[in-house]
Amino acid sequence: MAEIIDGKLVSNKLREELKVEVANFKNEFGITPGLAVIMVGDNPASAVYVRNKHKACADVGITSYQIELPTETSEDELLSKIDELNADKNVHGILVQLPLPKHISEEKVINRICADKDVDAFHPINVGKIMIGNYSFLPCTPAGIMELLRYYNVDITGKKCVVVGRSNIVGKPMALLLLEKHGTVTVCHSRTRELSEITKAADILVVAIGKAGFLTADMVKDGAVVIDVGINRLPDGRLSGDVDFEAVAEHASLITPVPGGVGPMTITMLLKNTLTAAKSAAMG
Ligand code: NDP
Repeated sequence: MAEIIDGKLVSNKLREELKVEVANFKNEFGITPGLAVIMVGDNPASAVYVRNKHKACADVGITSYQIELPTETSEDELLSKIDELNADKNVHGILVQLPLPKHISEEKVINRICADKDVDAFHPINVGKIMIGNYSFLPCTPAGIMELLRYYNVDITGKKCVVVGRSNIVGKPMALLLLEKHGTVTVCHSRTRELSEITKAADILVVAIGKAGFLTADMVKDGAVVIDVGINRLPDGRLSGDVDFEAVAEHASLITPVPGGVGPMTITMLLKNTLTAAKSAAMG
């Protein structure tokens, strides 16, 4: 039976450390790190995420600015808002909650955020820096997973790492971070053939596809470390990951639950990135 990776525990520990670091930074520089979160429209799921981000900021002493714009906001209006925040010295991190309404190009919006304030690490400059291993920010979800692996002493060097999902937000950067830590990485996606043959060979398996209970026990090797990124809402309202948790836990050595695994780490990494951005701004 697998040991359960407690994302809440690790996240709380990191937040306690961040709280101290933020306080020290304020004392030294007289600057309070600031995060601006822009939400366009009234997607209920986004509203929950945004509320959680503001609360998490308050808990560690980061000032958060909540910018709520109506669904009919034009692309130009949103881009001007970003320009304003790019120029605002009190704002060190800018995040635009995705998805955006269809009439706004996510790419244009991401590209407009000043790379130094791009705490999601989605800007092409930051993506490129991750590719060459010389980065300031890491995207929050993969970075949170790396922290979990570190906390649970999972050695990555030489291990067969399989990432299922190749999104720009999770799958691709996850693969790069595992590669950086000397894993031997395979990335799978919807066109992958004989997926279960590949997942069954994995020592470390990260699943990020958005399909409830997709990864079943027969797809996992005994003793594998299984990281479930998925967040899926079941018809009865409960949350489920991409992994058939109960059955896979019988085989894995370590496994993340949903909720309480990867999710809490994502916001914690956002706080960390905001502090990093504030520090770089203060030190020039
Ligand atoms: P995307 O929809 O952007 O990407 C899904 C990926 O899964 C694609 O690469 C797709 O392949 C692949 N995929 C879909 N179906 C299959 C299949 N049957 N077999 C193999 N691969 C498949 O999703 P995200 O990466 O943004 O998110 C993935 C999940 O993680 C979602 O549930 C999301 O809610 C959750 N999430 C959780 C976070 C957290 O903090 N815990 C943060 C971000 C996301 P292809 O490219 O070929 O289409």
